[in-house]
Amino acid sequence: MDNVHATLIKQLNSNNFSITKTRLAVFDALLNKEPLAMKNLVLNLAKITDRASVYRTVDLYEKLGIVQRLNIGWKYKIELSDKYQEHHHHISCSICGLLISTDGDSHIEQDINELAKKHGFKILSHQLEIQGVCSNCTK
Ligand SMILES: [Zn+2]
Ligand SMILES: [Zn+2]
Repeated sequence: MDNVHATLIKQLNSNNFSITKTRLAVFDALLNKEPLAMKNLVLNLAKITDRASVYRTVDLYEKLGIVQRLNIGWKYKIELSDKYQEHHHHISCSICGLLISTDGDSHIEQDINELAKKHGFKILSHQLEIQGVCSNCTK
């Protein structure tokens, strides 16, 4: 078993949950992928599990901090939390919905750390969503 799955199982177990076929499938559907809308996640898993189970699992994963919700306008997408993938930010197009994951910008990370320090905070996590219009949609 590789590292990410071992971490997942450990995290579930320490919260008194066991790994199930659905839980594993939801995790794998998000692993190393671009953020997914719930609709697409349900579609991708249609052969393995039903809609209600996908929603229930994502709900649980959100509570446990395994996945995070990205609010894009009035919609949202789901991706694995920083614990399971490289920290990054997103830029999304408010017209066509194009979503680009950016590499962590060290200047931004540094500014956030300084901001937290100034207010005496220890940072647990942060999300940064940038919305705009992509070059295709500005044409
Ligand atoms: Zn666009
Ligand atoms: Zn960041």
